[in-house]
Amino acid sequence: MSKHPVIKSRKVEISFDIPISKTLPFWDGLRQGKILTTKCRKCGKLYFPPVADCGECLSSDVDWVELSGEGKLVAYTQIAVKPLSFQNEQPYIVAIAELKEGVKALAWLTGVEPKDVKIGMRLKIVPKTFPDGRVAFVFERLPDGGPGGI
Ligand SMILES: [Zn+2]
Repeated sequence: MSKHPVIKSRKVEISFDIPISKTLPFWDGLRQGKILTTKCRKCGKLYFPPVADCGECLSSDVDWVELSGEGKLVAYTQIAVKPLSFQNEQPYIVAIAELKEGVKALAWLTGVEPKDVKIGMRLKIVPKTFPDGRVAFVFERLPDGGPGGI
């Protein structure tokens, strides 16, 4: 294979405003420590993250419901080669958990060493507000067994 000459571009950082008017209760909920999502009034399908329009029946008539945030780990990966906007982060774990309510959620798994991550371990979604006002959510480990076990 021939090697083509290249020059390095400047590092590019982009930031843009994401419209959230249709999912505003979700963002407000995170600030209040709640995990809110949408359930279709017409067909009953539960979504996470919330959607403004039901992908099953195309209805825009959705209810806001609160999730427990509790679930079990079904898949994960440790990210070592990070995207540009996460260059300043330590290697992190991205996890998918199936929540009690039957929906799957994707988030960073924090507070757990990679060697201690086990499929089936109990997790909880924890809302986070950053110093710059951004809100997000991460998974944290729940103790095995105990009250609220699933
Ligand atoms: Zn629907």
